[in-house]
Amino acid sequence: MFESLSSKLGGVFERLTGRGTLTEADVTEALREVRVALLEADVALPVVKEFIGRVKARAVGTDVIKSVSPGQMVVKIVHDELIDTLGTKGVELNLSAAAPVVILMVGLQGSGKTTTSAKLAVRLKKDRKKVLLASLDVYRPAAQRQLEILAGQAEVGSLPIVMGEMPVAITRRALDVGRKEGYDVVILDTAGRLHIDQELMAEVAEVRDVAQPTETLLVSDAMTGQDAVTLAREFNEKVGVTGIVLTRIDGDARGGAALSMRAVTGRPIKFLGAGEKLDALEVFHPDRIAGRILGMGDIVSLVEKAMETIEKEEAERLAKRIEKGKFDLDDMRKQFGQVRKMGDLKGVIGMLPGVGKMAAAMKDASVDEKLLARQEAIILSMTMAERRNPDLIKASRKKRIAAGSGVDVQEVNRLLKQYMMMSDVMKKVSKLGQKGLKRHGIA
Ligand code: GDP
Repeated sequence: MFESLSSKLGGVFERLTGRGTLTEADVTEALREVRVALLEADVALPVVKEFIGRVKARAVGTDVIKSVSPGQMVVKIVHDELIDTLGTKGVELNLSAAAPVVILMVGLQGSGKTTTSAKLAVRLKKDRKKVLLASLDVYRPAAQRQLEILAGQAEVGSLPIVMGEMPVAITRRALDVGRKEGYDVVILDTAGRLHIDQELMAEVAEVRDVAQPTETLLVSDAMTGQDAVTLAREFNEKVGVTGIVLTRIDGDARGGAALSMRAVTGRPIKFLGAGEKLDALEVFHPDRIAGRILGMGDIVSLVEKAMETIEKEEAERLAKRIEKGKFDLDDMRKQFGQVRKMGDLKGVIGMLPGVGKMAAAMKDASVDEKLLARQEAIILSMTMAERRNPDLIKASRKKRIAAGSGVDVQEVNRLLKQYMMMSDVMKKVSKLGQKGLKRHGIA
């Protein structure tokens, strides 16, 4: 088994605990371990290099949450970047063309093309599509027979085998039958080779020109390692790939091929093959693959929990101040910061006791980022004494504050008025007293 990345990083960062932000040196050291983990997971080297560069840019200068170690923080950032790179889940097949829609299956021999063709047929049949399967593998007679048998199991149509017919001719016949017999989808299973060769590429390109597929799916074994880049690039350049299917994800492959292929082609991974049976086809979930690649346990959820805790701690602190009837401009500023981070007003306010109704009223309030940033700037231009006691702010100070934060005086006035309103609400909330707080489990 692989030693988990998080435990390795734990060592690297032991001496760094308690630091505020991730420095370039911290990140560089941590990423050395990440690099090894990615290579162990079979991600291709050029992809690893490029990926590490992006993580570095994202990580340096990030705040470390106090309840986790810097190492864990880096793992979380790596994980998030992995998910972004792997792309969103659930990219469906494009079936928007006029019937019959053609799906072309390409890939090396033994990658799982034939099995995946039948799996897709089963899936499409569930969506009430009439599917025709056709094998273009004229080099291995058993291959055509294999697809015919699988079509029988899937209870979908299969193009009758004509011995001696060449791939382009089979393609024409499949399209013809597809049109005449009212099929919704025609899946063409092309021949594979053990290695990429130009003859194979030329043949697939010719079939593509005749078939005009809506989807060209590159089927690849999850075990593919450093070859994944060449494979993906070659098929994408010569044939044009629209999506990727990664098979044998039920084995012990660590899924690095997913990252390589996605990075090289920029095409979505649409499905994962997770077994030999025809129903073993899953929609792609980037988080599952990211977890496999990093071989980490609960780090990500740990960091996510820690983030929640921080937000809760802040809300609780605020709640205590409100309870005591204290809510000053600095609290308001901190709250703006929270709101900006969460992108949602009702999230923070909803955590406060006794303001459920107010939160409900704000349900549709969307956050104006720029406004919040300006309001924060205004408060930051005040002295601490003014933030504690806004009555100190007279006309001349308002002008200075406006100038200091780059707004006009009216905006300063509006903010102070908003503060008065909030402060009033907070005072009312405070009168609810301990009862309200207890009910919300805060006091
Ligand atoms: P092709 O040469 O690309 O058409 O590959 P096949 O579809 O014939 O698959 C080769 C072998 O891999 C067969 O024994 C399949 O049952 C098996 N296979 C295909 N997909 C998967 C998968 O997702 N998981 C597992 N465990 N086996 C698979």
